[in-house]
Amino acid sequence: MNQINEEYIEDYIRSLLPSSKGILEDLEKYALDYHIPIVQPEVAQLLKILLKIKKPKNILEIGTAIGYSAILMAENSSENCKITTIERRRDMVEKALENISKTPYKDRITVLEGEAEEVLLSLNDKYDFIFLDAAKGQYMEFFNRFVNLLDKGGLVISDNVLYKGMVATDKLVVRRKKTIVKRLRKFLRHINEIQGYTSCIIPIGDGLAITYKEE
Ligand code: SAH
Ligand code: MG
Repeated sequence: MNQINEEYIEDYIRSLLPSSKGILEDLEKYALDYHIPIVQPEVAQLLKILLKIKKPKNILEIGTAIGYSAILMAENSSENCKITTIERRRDMVEKALENISKTPYKDRITVLEGEAEEVLLSLNDKYDFIFLDAAKGQYMEFFNRFVNLLDKGGLVISDNVLYKGMVATDKLVVRRKKTIVKRLRKFLRHINEIQGYTSCIIPIGDGLAITYKEE
């Protein structure tokens, strides 16, 4: 059961969204069949809007999986916007590259294989839009490692921050997720308290946080 929104609300919102076409539609089917946790439809929709408003030039993504969100971001940004995406699983990297190669965006998307906490240390570029969607227990660590790469006026979008509602109440926390939940709570406190940033938490999908770095 969805513990973040009433099911009828989510179903209603989804019934209004236009269905995806082409490769994104194919990847949605694949993700469903193979249990790949791609961004949920209403989160994808918000990402599209943020990209259209922000018009980023250099996007960084942590957590590529099969490349669904990377392709979605490419489709909704300008043709001179570059996307760098990090993934630790070799099989996922291969699948993502295969999917990206079928799109007109192959020259704009770079997939870096490795543990994000290490790969992040090797990056020197500046980014104006960062999509964080990987191991939830490490969000704080990832954030600390990329925050200096984020441009002023840049955005960080963090997915799954309410983690099935567990982050908001101990009543839902299952024992083996205790550590992840504790770490996510610490991360959410941090992005709401840190000087020079403005954050909000939006209860759609599995919970989304948006953090803006002040100019
Ligand atoms: N953003 C994708 C879904 C990502 S699922 C989409 O919406 O289409 C999360 C992915 O992050 C998984 O493929 C997992 O292997 C990867 N991941 C988790 N922890 C990671 C880490 N520490 N470094 C790199 N990749 C990681
Ligand atoms: Mg996610």
